[in-house]
Amino acid sequence: MSTTARQAGKAQFEANKLAKRLRRGVGAAIADFGMIENGDRLMVCLSGGKDSYSLLDVLLYLRDKAPVAFDLVAVNLDQKQPGFPADVLPDYLARLGVPFRIEEQDTYSIVKRLIPPGKTTCSLCSRLRRGILYRVADELGATKIALGHHRDDILETLFLNLFFAAKLATMPPKLVSDDGRHVVIRPLAYCREQDLAAWADVRQFPIIPCDLCGSQPNLQRQQVKQMLHDWERRFPGRVDTLFRSLGNVVPSHLLDRRQFDFAGLKATGRPDADGDRLFDADESVSPDCDDNAAVVRFGTAEWL
Ligand code: SF4
Repeated sequence: MSTTARQAGKAQFEANKLAKRLRRGVGAAIADFGMIENGDRLMVCLSGGKDSYSLLDVLLYLRDKAPVAFDLVAVNLDQKQPGFPADVLPDYLARLGVPFRIEEQDTYSIVKRLIPPGKTTCSLCSRLRRGILYRVADELGATKIALGHHRDDILETLFLNLFFAAKLATMPPKLVSDDGRHVVIRPLAYCREQDLAAWADVRQFPIIPCDLCGSQPNLQRQQVKQMLHDWERRFPGRVDTLFRSLGNVVPSHLLDRRQFDFAGLKATGRPDADGDRLFDADESVSPDCDDNAAVVRFGTAEWL
């Protein structure tokens, strides 16, 4: 076998492994959080970035394999940013034969008009976008709105909340929208950003740059991303361990009186597995020496 053929075979092998990992991760997240039910119509939000392309790609694959019947429609919001290549997504979606809607709304001009130059525009822009997407979901009869946030987005948001909002919270895999009318899901919640970037390369998605609006990148998010990256480099597996901790919360061992009735706490006379023995785990369960730390332990991947 020639070197070129060997390299092509290896690349194909790696691509198959990556595809399986992403599909397993999405299937597990859907199953663990009950994201998709029989008869659901998903509105898949597409920005033209690697994450939302991957989301649509994996959901299309799973639609044909899933134990429940669901349908999907892709939606892109054309915010009229200068240089936005308006044909790219319609061409791509038409080629795939996916039903879609391109919603044209000039939020770019609104944001530019209302936010003074040099100030961050993302929060108003996101609020406007959210309102529009909720309206479109109603118009399309969508039962769920699927967003392309992944594991690293979730962890970065966790640390941003910890560092700047004194809050232990992040973007959950499933939530009800502010107006109480929509269920928002994040099927990529278990997927690593680096896998999504690699998948975008494999699939050659026609990526639309995300800096067309001219907004400054969110420096705090960049710093948190870098911090997580550095940790992972120095202590491989730490990021997965951190992520798993989000599914292993012990309210009685935190300080939030709304989550646990500390005032009413009394000795019961019965042993409690979580009691003060929880501290015993500190050394033996050091995240950085856990052999399995590099692998997210998904819940029940029965959905696939
Ligand atoms: S980067 Fe630009 S398009 Fe994205 S949320 Fe911020 S202002 Fe809006």
